Amino acid sequence: MSSSGFDINRLNAFAEKMVREKKTAVGFPCNQTVKLADFYHWYAVSGLADVAMNNVGDPHKPSLYALNTHEFENEVIDFFSPLYGFSPGDAWGIVTNGGTDGNNHGIYFGVNALRSSSDLKPVLYVSEEAHYSIKRLSDLQGLEMRQIPTNVRGEIEVQAFEQALDPSRPALVVIAVGTTFKGGIDNQDAIDDVLARKRPVGVYRHVDAALFGGYLPFTEHANLVNHHERKFDSIAVSGHKFFGFDEPSGLFITTKDVLVRQNPFRVSYLNESVPTISCSRSALAPLKFWWQIHKTGVEGYRRQAELILKNAVYLKKRLDEINYQAWLNDISNTVYFKRPGDWVMKKWNLAPYEDERLGGKLAHDIVMRHEGMNMIDHFIDDLLLDRREGGDVER
Ligand SMILES: *Cc1c(COP(=O)(O)O)cnc(C)c1O
Repeated sequence: MSSSGFDINRLNAFAEKMVREKKTAVGFPCNQTVKLADFYHWYAVSGLADVAMNNVGDPHKPSLYALNTHEFENEVIDFFSPLYGFSPGDAWGIVTNGGTDGNNHGIYFGVNALRSSSDLKPVLYVSEEAHYSIKRLSDLQGLEMRQIPTNVRGEIEVQAFEQALDPSRPALVVIAVGTTFKGGIDNQDAIDDVLARKRPVGVYRHVDAALFGGYLPFTEHANLVNHHERKFDSIAVSGHKFFGFDEPSGLFITTKDVLVRQNPFRVSYLNESVPTISCSRSALAPLKFWWQIHKTGVEGYRRQAELILKNAVYLKKRLDEINYQAWLNDISNTVYFKRPGDWVMKKWNLAPYEDERLGGKLAHDIVMRHEGMNMIDHFIDDLLLDRREGGDVER
């Protein structure tokens, strides 16, 4: 293609539109307070913007491909492992391509780890309201999946789980800590009681905490994502949700005990056995994470966690004040409510959902850092306008 199609004005107009759009983006869990301009400036002037780095291989082993950021990736994992209750010497983890990549590793590592307990294929148990990636990945790995009904808050029905559980086969339990639509948190104590009573031939617990796993370690409810207290085997968290990265990334953390039970395919050109599913992995994402950790620190993350939870409560309070049917689970930043008119859905980038138990059509607002009280007030104004005008006005 010739360069005649290159049009900087078109690109600038596109950039302007994106910067504008983010001011009303509240329906998806993307934190728009990104703040990476300093990083990109350094990245360009340092010369790295002209280097092809790649984190191929196990970051904890010496790599034959020298152009990598494994040392920073390991420091990122070392920072987060204790926050998720893993002992420093016992943790193994990577910076992933995103929450789905972390879930993929969790489910795949789980299947391999369970092989030592039984020759039978595990059954994957997950709630109906858990993220669709679990269903997709279960399908991809050819597992039998049992979807467990949820209560009205989106949490797994523990009695139904008990009924579905087949103790003669290994159990791969995927626990939702923050379901996508309602922010439901599965009751891990109750799940553990069932497992202790029914004693399946093998158990592996993977926690999908894509969104909530970002802020929970920095709240008084940190125990919900604590490996030491909750006994889960692995956890996946997204980087572009709470942490506010501009591109998909995430964290996957498990134990060395799980790692040694993986299929040790040896890759001679990498001089090692490679446990990761994708070969090439981003070298940039760990560098951004490292940068952010040092700029923000635990105290900074704590303030951010407090802020989004406080603003979610503010949004719920404003909805209550105008008698707008809405719900907010405990320790959640996700407010769900009766679905407004199409123009509000479109303007505020809201995602639709249906639940007959809550009167049918719903939408949600995931309160991230860029959604302050001012923005919430504007949103409420639009809901009021929508109500006055009957919900179907074109604008
Ligand atoms: C967003 C989300 C995912 C998927 O994560 P990606 O980072 O988008 O791949 C999985 N589970 C839950 C609960 C999520 O909220």
